[in-house]
Amino acid sequence: MYVRFWGVRGSIPVSDPRYIHYGGNTSCIELRCGETALVFDAGTGLRGLGAALVEEGCTEVDLFLSHTHVDHVLGLPFFPFADRSGNTLRLWSGHQPASGATERAIRHLMSAPLFPVPPEVLAADIAFRDFRAGETLTPKPGIAIRTAPLRHPGGATGYRIEYDGHSICYVTDTEHEPGRQDENVVGLIEGADIVVYDAMFTDDEFPRHRGWGHSTWEEGARLCRAAGVKTYVIFHHAPERDDEALRGIEAAARRMFAGSVVAREGLTLSP
Ligand SMILES: [Zn+2]
Ligand SMILES: [Zn+2]
Repeated sequence: MYVRFWGVRGSIPVSDPRYIHYGGNTSCIELRCGETALVFDAGTGLRGLGAALVEEGCTEVDLFLSHTHVDHVLGLPFFPFADRSGNTLRLWSGHQPASGATERAIRHLMSAPLFPVPPEVLAADIAFRDFRAGETLTPKPGIAIRTAPLRHPGGATGYRIEYDGHSICYVTDTEHEPGRQDENVVGLIEGADIVVYDAMFTDDEFPRHRGWGHSTWEEGARLCRAAGVKTYVIFHHAPERDDEALRGIEAAARRMFAGSVVAREGLTLSP
């Protein structure tokens, strides 16, 4: 079991020499459980991951969306894996109670005048799997995925993937209440090996961004400490956060929680 990062930004992709170390693509991670390929979020990092999956000859992918804000779905129309006939793509989402909401959102994204062609141009067999955040999913025998609703405008889903006695959590985008730990998040990440967490802001910046639906790297460290997590991955970097700023955050986070890592493109972690 391992997790590999293909996109680590929030809000908008960035491209500039100042972002070369941590990378500029938006949210997309690959998670392998044995032979099974799981993908979490379809941000712009999905393009590079798709090319790698095609190269490898992978024909089946389960893709789980935290939600459908554009930084988490923008890679979908450019996902090379989805443009191969014979490939199967299942798109899972649980942030909107109304079933069919994610399919409608993707159809809206891929429609004029926002986009020139509809989803039907993608040659793969694409299926939408709606669930309710809070349910446990079993996409394949031996893989259990616990889910929980997060605090984000329009909703978002947090995931805990359990396989072969290990656990990796993907928790973005979510806002905390200062001084009170989110029970849904603590319950989801309790004792996990690796937790990827929305650290868009710093505690200093947070008061000016209440209601935006994001958390801070310090809150992530507090949550991981309280929940007995082994490795805490700082994720969903603000677009203005350059390499120098992220190096500073990594050093400060390690003083607060020794198992802290700042997510960067190409990073691979095993439990
Ligand atoms: Zn986001
Ligand atoms: Zn969002």
